[in-house]
Amino acid sequence: MLLLIPGPVMTRPEVKAAMGVDFAPWDRDFQPILAGIRERVTRIAGGAPDTHITLPLQGSGHFVVEAMIRTFIPAGGRLLVPMTGAYAQRIVRLATEAGRVPVELAIDADRPIDPQAVAEALAADDTLGHVAFVCSETGTGVVNDAAAIGAVVRAAGRRVLLDAVSAFGALPINVAAQPELDALAFTSGKCIEGMPGVGFAVARIDRLEASQGNAGSWCLDLADLLAQARRIGLGSSRFTPAAQVLNAFNVALDLFEAEGGQQARLARYRANSAALRAGVEKLGLKPVLSADRQGPIVFNVHAPADPNWDLQAFVDALKRRGVLISNFYNTPMPSFRVGTIGAITPADLTHAAAMFGAAMAEIGVRLRDAA
Ligand SMILES: *Cc1c(COP(=O)(O)O)cnc(C)c1O
Repeated sequence: MLLLIPGPVMTRPEVKAAMGVDFAPWDRDFQPILAGIRERVTRIAGGAPDTHITLPLQGSGHFVVEAMIRTFIPAGGRLLVPMTGAYAQRIVRLATEAGRVPVELAIDADRPIDPQAVAEALAADDTLGHVAFVCSETGTGVVNDAAAIGAVVRAAGRRVLLDAVSAFGALPINVAAQPELDALAFTSGKCIEGMPGVGFAVARIDRLEASQGNAGSWCLDLADLLAQARRIGLGSSRFTPAAQVLNAFNVALDLFEAEGGQQARLARYRANSAALRAGVEKLGLKPVLSADRQGPIVFNVHAPADPNWDLQAFVDALKRRGVLISNFYNTPMPSFRVGTIGAITPADLTHAAAMFGAAMAEIGVRLRDAA
């Protein structure tokens, strides 16, 4: 099956094989693997061990995003959330349920966040301690300029929490160049191309020290993870870790570095996205975003204006052809979503587009505009 969703993603056989190795989390064979992962991730993020630490947290991306919100924003604290799409809405819900106060910044969701709008919102409200935003909005596929937004937040003397869940490993991020960044969050199962199951925060050590006692949750307290690392070391875990997933993630990091790191991965994902655009346009389908606004992670295609269009029927017909995509709408208008990340190449996306055409023919959708 060719899995084209923004996580879990296609993984290489070496990564799958690493899942089959049995480990005890406290074993001397496992602890160096975990410690090594944490050191490598800090480096990939542009951090140094004396200023930043990588904190692994069991669970999917929401868990680590919530942990970041709880740890760095005290109960009742206010945060600005630029409303980029579905994943910004999730930040709002996570913050609200944790007793923090999100303040929404309305933006035009098919454009990136305008740093100037963030600057104005912060200038107008000095109770906003943080800006929490999504780097690559997985709802729309639009990528935001985390460095430019960070710069205005820094100038305003506020802090940033970055949801880099669908960005880390593919989009350039340098935590050392962004001192306003308390933390970023990502997961094992997206652009690093590991298995799902572990979230990571890359966080400033000084800010973690200043955030003791905020979380109101033991499980989701990143400051407690710092304390654990200091007491027992980077190879230790508070609770049962997803040891097999971490071992597979370690192999995924090897492959990431062998490919040429972030720049090579971004180049491949961009090529994937371009191949998909060419393929869907050849069918006469219309991408939701223009090429200049299209990010390399997620690609939405307008549903054809045909009475026979039915997303689930299309997804099922596509699956019979060996291609799996999301079966829910992520945009206000009917569209289908294709992930362009994972261990896949432009040839896979060209093939997928051909299968879109075949699946539409099967469900009786006519591609009127086809060239
Ligand atoms: C995938 C993702 C998350 C987390 O989703 P989970 O389903 O909890 O892993 C958060 N933010 C963004 C931008 C994502 O793409």
